[in-house]
Amino acid sequence: MRPDMPDVLILGGTGEARALAAALVDEGVDVESSLAGRVSEPRLPVGAVRIGGFGGPDGLVDHLREHGVGVVVDATHPFAARITRNAVAACATAGVRYLRLARPAWEPRPSDTWTRVPDMTAAAQIVADRGGRVFLTTGRQDVAVFADIDDAWFLIRVVDVPDTALPPRHRILRSRGPYTLESERGLIADHAIDLLVTKNSGGPLTAPKLQAAAERGVEVVVVDRPTEPAGLDAVSRVSDAVVRVRELLRPA
Ligand code: NAP
Repeated sequence: MRPDMPDVLILGGTGEARALAAALVDEGVDVESSLAGRVSEPRLPVGAVRIGGFGGPDGLVDHLREHGVGVVVDATHPFAARITRNAVAACATAGVRYLRLARPAWEPRPSDTWTRVPDMTAAAQIVADRGGRVFLTTGRQDVAVFADIDDAWFLIRVVDVPDTALPPRHRILRSRGPYTLESERGLIADHAIDLLVTKNSGGPLTAPKLQAAAERGVEVVVVDRPTEPAGLDAVSRVSDAVVRVRELLRPA
């Protein structure tokens, strides 16, 4: 590795990506983290950070070559499917090693009332059918899919206010996780929620809403994860990613 160049490029935007950056920097690995630039005040990882898209897979190939990156760790959110596809393709083209770090999906427990759907459009169809008082936790980019539904009232929890169309009856709640079971119980009770909509993001930071919904018998519409490319070199824990990165950085 050249001393002025990052050994590892972390594609981030998640808590796992920040934890990995901290762990690798601690070990003296030269790391650059990349963020898409979607939120106005992102939580920044330690170490070098760049912000903004690369300009598709070709732009990412150029970045990998210009910066002499040795390993790409794709620690992006399980629903950020495009950057994962781009990273897999760019690493193959540039001959750079690729590692996927993705937290496991949530699985329903016996007390949960889940309706699983393949995508956000299917989730919106269920909401349109059910009506009622909906807690929408899908993130800002997906709110527009629910904009035509006027038979439901929405509590829309987002980090930044959406700049897209919104359903006619709603309240915006700006906040950022992690959330506690107590606060989720309070929100669901105070707003008399009878339907929760969530992506199957996985991980502990936003999981308490599932328990809070189960306790009140609230139905949860769970959007399944998009499919990832087959055969990825993948781990689900930060500690395993650290071990794997060490192996990948070792000269052959
Ligand atoms: P996406 O649809 O997979 O990616 C769209 C485009 O955004 C990519 O083609 C790429 O632009 C750029 N991009 C995405 N992640 C990037 C990164 N880490 N560094 C540089 N460019 C990136 O992604 P998304 O769903 O909009 O998510 C954007 C970011 O937010 C991701 O990094 C993800 O980890 C984080 N996030 C997403 C969600 C979610 O539910 N989707 C939730 C929490 C956090 P170019 O093609 O120009 O390179």
